[in-house]
Amino acid sequence: MSVYLDHNATTPVRPEAAEAVRRALADVGNPSSVHGEGRRARRRVEDARDRVADLVGGRPDDVIFTSGGTEASNQALADAAVALVSAVEHVSVIDAAPQATCIPVDADGVVDLEALDTMLRAAKDAAAGSVVVSVMLANNETGVIQPVRAVADLARRHGAIVHCDAVQALGKMPVDLTELGVHRLSLSAHKIGGPQGVGALVVAPGHRVAATLRGGGQERSRRGGTENVPGIAGFGRAAELLANGQERMPLLRDLRDALEDEITRTAPDAVVFARGRDRLANTSCIAMPGVTSETQVMAFDLDGIAVSAGSACSSGKVESSHVLKAMGVAEDQLNAAVRVSLGWTTEAADTRRFCDAWKALHARLGGGSLAA
Ligand code: PLP
Repeated sequence: MSVYLDHNATTPVRPEAAEAVRRALADVGNPSSVHGEGRRARRRVEDARDRVADLVGGRPDDVIFTSGGTEASNQALADAAVALVSAVEHVSVIDAAPQATCIPVDADGVVDLEALDTMLRAAKDAAAGSVVVSVMLANNETGVIQPVRAVADLARRHGAIVHCDAVQALGKMPVDLTELGVHRLSLSAHKIGGPQGVGALVVAPGHRVAATLRGGGQERSRRGGTENVPGIAGFGRAAELLANGQERMPLLRDLRDALEDEITRTAPDAVVFARGRDRLANTSCIAMPGVTSETQVMAFDLDGIAVSAGSACSSGKVESSHVLKAMGVAEDQLNAAVRVSLGWTTEAADTRRFCDAWKALHARLGGGSLAA
């Protein structure tokens, strides 16, 4: 039996969401068509829109369905004359704003609000158009939670637009558009038990965002192209399931904490990043000094355990994490970190297997200089 501890990369699709996808696929109809088939497809899309809006305290009309978190964040940053982006953002945000100025973070990866204040003053003087600040709610590699409300209050005082990538936070902690005080929120279905390739950009009431994909007038002319009806239906069902409670989170926190306690007790050289900070309950980023991330990921894979080295990289190549780099992590720890992320299918036996495998690998290879 394999052990899947990479839920931050993607989490298994909930059977109910898969069923919603299957039903939509089995049906016919373009949501823009006026006949009965079209109206049925439209209903699937609008039901899902209600569910996603409900989940984040938004209005259905303010939900723009996209192909995922990456597209949502690209759209959120497309109209920025000046972008201020935290150093620990997901690449989908960093690469969406290549001219952005980087907001520094502390040693645990939490944004520096004083630095942001200074940057906002300078940006306001320099910018001919809108200033967009982008700070994620929870980090995909370390799980660290950002003070997004404080960021939003600060940015709004300077007249800036605030975007928050809540892709990783959704389902693992409360996410509420109004409470966060942001203008733009990115979400992704495949992190909450929905299908891959669908997400949403949710905007605050009255806030406008321009289309980046034009043509067709779908999504109130904010995202052209025939809607991904099966994907959206699956997203809606997954959102509905989440709205009914996140009751497994305390259990996952206990399992995660027990795992970290055992590893650091056995191996005093092990490092758990941002351990003392507010973090997602399911995430742990752990360095085994002396053993590269790549070696660890492959060794765990041979043991039937799926974890990842920082964020998943589409090339399959493991590169050192820009998140840990921004936190100022020393070179020997930087290249020796793996991310363990628990989810709705995780049981105590899974984290037990990981602990045993970690300890065995540490006994075999750990403690020295980086083993290739
Ligand atoms: N933002 C964060 C924090 C993520 O972890 C991810 C996925 O790993 C994304 C954005 C990208 O979302 P998607 O895969 O839906 O494009």
